[in-house]
Amino acid sequence: MAASNEYDFLFKILMIGDSGCGKSSLLLRWADHEFKSEFICTIGVDFKIRTMDLEGKIAKLQIWDTAGQERFKTITNSYYHGAQGVMIVFDLTSHDSFEHVSAWLSEVQRHSPKTVRVMLCGNKSDLASRREVTVEEAVEFADRHGLHYIETSAKLDHNVHSAFTKMATTLREQRILIES
Ligand code: GDP
Ligand code: MG
Repeated sequence: MAASNEYDFLFKILMIGDSGCGKSSLLLRWADHEFKSEFICTIGVDFKIRTMDLEGKIAKLQIWDTAGQERFKTITNSYYHGAQGVMIVFDLTSHDSFEHVSAWLSEVQRHSPKTVRVMLCGNKSDLASRREVTVEEAVEFADRHGLHYIETSAKLDHNVHSAFTKMATTLREQRILIES
C-alpha cells in the first residue's frame, strides 16, 4: 500500500461564496461522507485533504474552507497564495447569493494569477420548490465567464464528488499543459 505522503499531484483548492450557501457542508460531505443540518461554524483557517485516483495517478487535494471570513470580505493574500483552483459556491434558493458571484469572481481575479481555474457550484439542488436561480441563468453566467458549472446537494450527496473530481481533472490537464 502506498504511504499517505506519496502522490503525483498536489492541488490547493479554495471554497468561496456567501455565508450559508453550503461550502463547509460540501467539504464535509466530500471529505467525511457526512451531512449536518446545523450551520457549520468554521473558526480559523480550515482545510481538508483527500487523495483521489486520476486515471492511475494519485492526486492529493487540499481543500480550504473560508472559515467564516466570507462575512467580512477579508480573505487575505495568504489564503489565495498557491491556490490553483477556486470553487465559487452559491445557494440555488438564494438569488442574492447568485448575484454576489461576480463580486467573488473579482475577488479571485484580484488575488490569483490568470492561470487559476474557477468552477461555479449551485448548491442545495434538493430544495427544488425553493429554487430562485434557474439552470439557464447560471449556465449563461458561467459560459460568459468561461467557468464550468455544476449543481450539487451536500444534503443528498448529489454531484459532490463529481464537482471535486471535475476540479481535479481540470487542474491535472492544466498541469500537463504547463509541463509539456
Ligand atoms: P457555509 O457558510 O457556506 O459554510 O454553509 P454551511 O455548510 O454551514 O451550510 C449552511 C446551512 O445550509 C446549514 O444549515 C446546512 O445544513 C445547509 N445546507 C448546506 N448544504 C445543503 C444542501 O445541499 N441542501 C440543503 N437542504 N441544505 C444545505
Ligand atoms: Mg462555512
